[in-house]
Amino acid sequence: MTRTAYINGAFVAEAEATVSIFDRGFLFADGVYEVIAVVDGRFVDDGPHLDRLDRSLREIQLVLPMPRTVLHDALLALLGQNAVTEGLVYLQVTRGPAERDFAFPAEPRPTVVAWARSLALLEHPRARTGASAILVPDQRWARRDIKSIALLPQVLAKQAARAADAFEALMVEDGLLSEGGSSTLFMVKDGALITHALGTEVLPGITRERVFALAARQGVPIVERSVSTAELLGADELFVTAATALVMPIVRVDGVAIGAGAPGPITTRLRADYVTSVRHGAAAAM
Ligand code: PLP
Repeated sequence: MTRTAYINGAFVAEAEATVSIFDRGFLFADGVYEVIAVVDGRFVDDGPHLDRLDRSLREIQLVLPMPRTVLHDALLALLGQNAVTEGLVYLQVTRGPAERDFAFPAEPRPTVVAWARSLALLEHPRARTGASAILVPDQRWARRDIKSIALLPQVLAKQAARAADAFEALMVEDGLLSEGGSSTLFMVKDGALITHALGTEVLPGITRERVFALAARQGVPIVERSVSTAELLGADELFVTAATALVMPIVRVDGVAIGAGAPGPITTRLRADYVTSVRHGAAAAM
């Protein structure tokens, strides 16, 4: 099957979906993106993801060049054309092609691209055994709340994780954990969930919000604060959340076993509840 991508209003074979070498996304990483999970043929939290896209665009003073409903319909069409029932759509908006100049072009022509992929999200092999992580310095810019395509610090962090055969790189700044290279970090201590408060230091994870709702239903208290590396290594349980990782237990950090060295009961229950909540028919109940 020839996979199709969406590019500026058209659906084209992926191999033919190209953008200009003058695109500001290519030259300056001047753009933002979203990743939306697909489960049972439906998007998970597409509304909140498109809200976050709107916010990211606003923060970089870029306007989506089409109504949001048109974009949403295009993403749905991509799923159909690529027969994706479980996986993801990737969506990126840049300030488009222009003569190279740092300041904005007078009349930007934004580039909007999207593609879809099939991926097994629900049955991830690490979900059962737990995954490992490494600690890396957080070398990112000061506006991590914007889902910017400028991801070089994460590229380096996640390459370090791969070289160490780890699933995620957990980023440390001034001795405190911010988040994962591409995930929100949660620690469980004495029955409570602890995660970084929202602000400019971390991306406001959409999965994080759903986990908050599930934890509240279970009566698990949530504390929003950053934790030190020492606290992290002494956690009862750890997990990270992201659109495609869902709720992923972390059982080893820099070679140190976390808790019992296996996915803990709160993490295991949250993942199971998360999966239930995103299965076909259940999403509307959230
Ligand atoms: N934090 C960072 C830096 C990320 O890149 C991501 C996802 O890619 C997340 C958190 C999790 O966000 P979400 O749950 O919306 O996928």
